[in-house]
Amino acid sequence: MLDPDVASESKLVSLDAKRPSGASLPPLFGLDAEALSTRMAASGEPAWRGKQLAEALYRQSLREISEITTLPKDLRQRLVAEGWQVGRPQIAQAFKSEDGTERYLVQAGAETVETVWMPEGDDGESGDGTEAGAEELRSVSPQQKSHAPSNPQLLADSVQSSAPERASRELLSHSTWRRATLCVSSQVGCAVNCQFCLTAKLGLQRNLTAGEIAGQVVSVFARQGVEVGRDRVNLVFMGMGEPFLNYDNFMAGVRLLVKEVGLSPQRMTVSTSGIVPGIERFAQERADVRPKLAISLNAPNDAIRAEIMPINRKWNIEAVVDAVRQVTLRPRERVTFEYVLLAGVTDQPAHAREVARLVRRTGLPAKVNLIAWNPGPGIPYSMPAPAAVEAFRVTLAGEGIPTYLRKPRGRDIYAACGQLKRTVEG
Ligand code: SF4
Repeated sequence: MLDPDVASESKLVSLDAKRPSGASLPPLFGLDAEALSTRMAASGEPAWRGKQLAEALYRQSLREISEITTLPKDLRQRLVAEGWQVGRPQIAQAFKSEDGTERYLVQAGAETVETVWMPEGDDGESGDGTEAGAEELRSVSPQQKSHAPSNPQLLADSVQSSAPERASRELLSHSTWRRATLCVSSQVGCAVNCQFCLTAKLGLQRNLTAGEIAGQVVSVFARQGVEVGRDRVNLVFMGMGEPFLNYDNFMAGVRLLVKEVGLSPQRMTVSTSGIVPGIERFAQERADVRPKLAISLNAPNDAIRAEIMPINRKWNIEAVVDAVRQVTLRPRERVTFEYVLLAGVTDQPAHAREVARLVRRTGLPAKVNLIAWNPGPGIPYSMPAPAAVEAFRVTLAGEGIPTYLRKPRGRDIYAACGQLKRTVEG
């Protein structure tokens, strides 16, 4: 069950990030150019040094102050001597799926969180107002497709690897994909307790900082050789945690990604289980930093939803939809309803017709992303049969609802939706 206290924002302050043990000063990574300029000015440097720092941290992905050669050597030495550090979260372990998906355990202080790289996306969120590029997929030659090993493989990603090693790995990685989706975490664990989700088993351990949220993106982009502005990479905030229960840090992370890294918020989608106060705050965000919105619906009505998502007892479907209506959508933007198909529970054609009525009733420009449930140990549900998934998709689409079936990605390495529990087996 969701602890109602956890959903109260006033309680979240005490959950906010612990600093990495042994760090004498907070990391620079996570501060925006303005805050970095303030730091520089306070230490007797020109404020524009802050912009140089931001460029080094967020655009050049440098990991050590000593590597920031745009700063004078004596300044670098002084910053290091004073205990400053870049402090970007690093990839501690990487697992590669047969399908090319990579699941990372990213170090966040003493903990790890999960980030999932899906080359060629998952046919769900495309993040840019278009649907996932079936045409593009067809145009990819076999040579351009991922050269995944035949078995899941643990890939060590040493934080000590040299720049040439990193560069050669990045070049190799980049030759294998045309577009990609990156799934990002917002909390260590989760309090929402969706009954079909492995992350829920961890409970909530803590909120990630803005730097830890943006750092997952910058670290994976560096590993994959992503060039911002050239490559089509969509971000989905659908990893571990409920972003709207860590609202301030989540949006601060988004602002870093938009303003300092240079990503478009229209290539980002945040998914919420239906935290109404969070959706209401989200509706107030400026369009130039607001990601697109997905609601994790997962059931055709309140009775079934309350069974599989206890959060529904606090905010039912109608309350969630009322809050979503407050969001001013961009031209051509649609709200996504995520829908996990659980065998015998949510996957019947009658459920599809009910979902269609529900979506129509919202009056919102909307689409539905279907996800065939991914199995996990100790979770009391079954995967839907492929025929049931197809019948559901056809029924919903036949009712005139734009419907997309997300490809399961990385099931063999516990990287798929609802499977993120920091599993360390390949
Ligand atoms: S599905 Fe999302 S909101 Fe629900 S328990 Fe899992 S991580 Fe939390």
